[in-house]
Amino acid sequence: YEALEALDPEIAGVLQSELTRIRSGLQLIASENLSSPAVLTALGSTLSNKYAEGYPGRRYYGGCSEVDKAEQIAIDRCKELFGAEHANVQPHSGASANQAVYGAFCQPGDKLLGMSLPHGGHLTHGAKVSFSGKWFDIAHYGVDKDTEDIDYDQVRDLARQHRPKVILAGGSAIPRLIDFQAFRDIADEVGAIFWVDAAHFIGLVAGKAIPSPVPYADVVTFTTHKVLRGPRSGALVCKEEHAAKLDKAVFPLMQGGPQMHTVAAKAVNFKECMQADYQQYAKDVIANAQRLAAGLAERDIRPTTGGTDTHLALLDLQKVGVTGADAEARCDAAGIVLNKNAIPFDPQKANVASGVRVGTPSVTTQGMGLPEMDVIADVIHRAVTQTDGDPEHAVAKEIRATVEDLCTRFPAYPR
Ligand code: PLP
Repeated sequence: YEALEALDPEIAGVLQSELTRIRSGLQLIASENLSSPAVLTALGSTLSNKYAEGYPGRRYYGGCSEVDKAEQIAIDRCKELFGAEHANVQPHSGASANQAVYGAFCQPGDKLLGMSLPHGGHLTHGAKVSFSGKWFDIAHYGVDKDTEDIDYDQVRDLARQHRPKVILAGGSAIPRLIDFQAFRDIADEVGAIFWVDAAHFIGLVAGKAIPSPVPYADVVTFTTHKVLRGPRSGALVCKEEHAAKLDKAVFPLMQGGPQMHTVAAKAVNFKECMQADYQQYAKDVIANAQRLAAGLAERDIRPTTGGTDTHLALLDLQKVGVTGADAEARCDAAGIVLNKNAIPFDPQKANVASGVRVGTPSVTTQGMGLPEMDVIADVIHRAVTQTDGDPEHAVAKEIRATVEDLCTRFPAYPR
C-alpha cells in the first residue's frame, strides 16, 4: 500500500475511502460480501502477471509450473467442495461462465427456457439487451401470482411447447429454494440439458445449509463473490460427459488467458468454505435473512412469497407507498446500502420498481446476528417511510448514528 500511495495518491485515496465507506455503512446488497484478507492477498499477487492459456499441464505458454499448481488445487478443491465430477475455475465472471454454457450446448438461434428477468432471472438468461436474448430464442417462465414462487406447471407447459435445447433454473432475486428434481424431470421429458445458474445461492450450498443442485444438473455455473465470499469471478461444475465441451467453451471459445491471481484466490476461498466455521456462517446468513424479512413484514414492508429460505429477501413497498428507487436513495442517505428491485408483476418500470432487495452475506460476515437484524429492520423501515433522501434530514442523521453504532460493534475488516 505504501508503494501505491507514493506513486498514485489519487487511487490510493480511493482504496482508502472505499474501505471507510464499507466500514461506515450497512452493506445489504444481496450479491456482495466481504472477502477475507487471505483471498485479497492472493488477488493482489504476482500471479496476475502470468499468461497461461490452456489448462494445467497443457498450456500455450512457458513458465506455467507454479500457476499450474494453483489451478489444479483450485479444481480439486472445487470438485471436493461440491461433490462434482468436473470443475472449470477459469471463467472471469458469472456472465463468462454462462457464455460458456451457451457456447458448449447451443448454436445461435437455438431455443432455451429460463426464468424471466422481471420475475427474478438474470440478464444473461435471455434478456433482450444481453447477448443471450439477441443471439438465442429464449422462452421465459415466471412465478405463480398467488404463491410468488416458481410456477412449475408453466415450466412444464413451456418446455413441452418449445422443446428447448437447454432448461435453465436460477436467478438474482429468488428468495425460495428451487425444486431441482422437478426441473430435472421436465428436462428429461423433453430431452433438454438442465443448467442451474447458482450464482446467488452457491455459498449456501458450499456451507451445506441448503440442498445442492449438483447431483441433478448437467452443468452448474456460479459466481464466486456472493455468499461464497471469494474473489470477484466465476466457475462451473458439470458431469464428466460434458467436461471437454465446457472446457473448450470457456477457452478458447469465450475467453483468452485465465486470470491466475483470481484462480489462486478461488482456491483459497474453496479451502475457507471447507472449514466448519463457514458452515455455521451459511446457516447464520439464512437465519439472519429470515429474521430481517420477518421484522420488515411486521412493519408493512412485505417480503414476496411471505419470507425467504436463503440469503435474500425481495420486499414489496407498495403498502408503504414508496418506490424502490426512492427507498434506495433514502436508505443510502441514512447509511444503509441496498438496491431497488422489480417484484413479480411490478406495475412500475424496472428503473423505478416497487421493491428493494436485501441480503445478509456481508452483515453476517461482520458477526451480526438476530438482535441486530431487528435493529436493521427498524432502521430500514424508518429510512424508507420517515426520510426524504436528504442526508441532513433529522431522522436520517439519527439512523446514521444507529448504523455507526452497529458498524463499530461489528466492524468490517477489523483493524
Ligand atoms: N447469474 C446470476 C444469477 C447473477 O445474479 C449474476 C450477477 O449478479 C450473474 C450471473 C453475473 O455475474 P457477473 O456479474 O460476475 O458477470
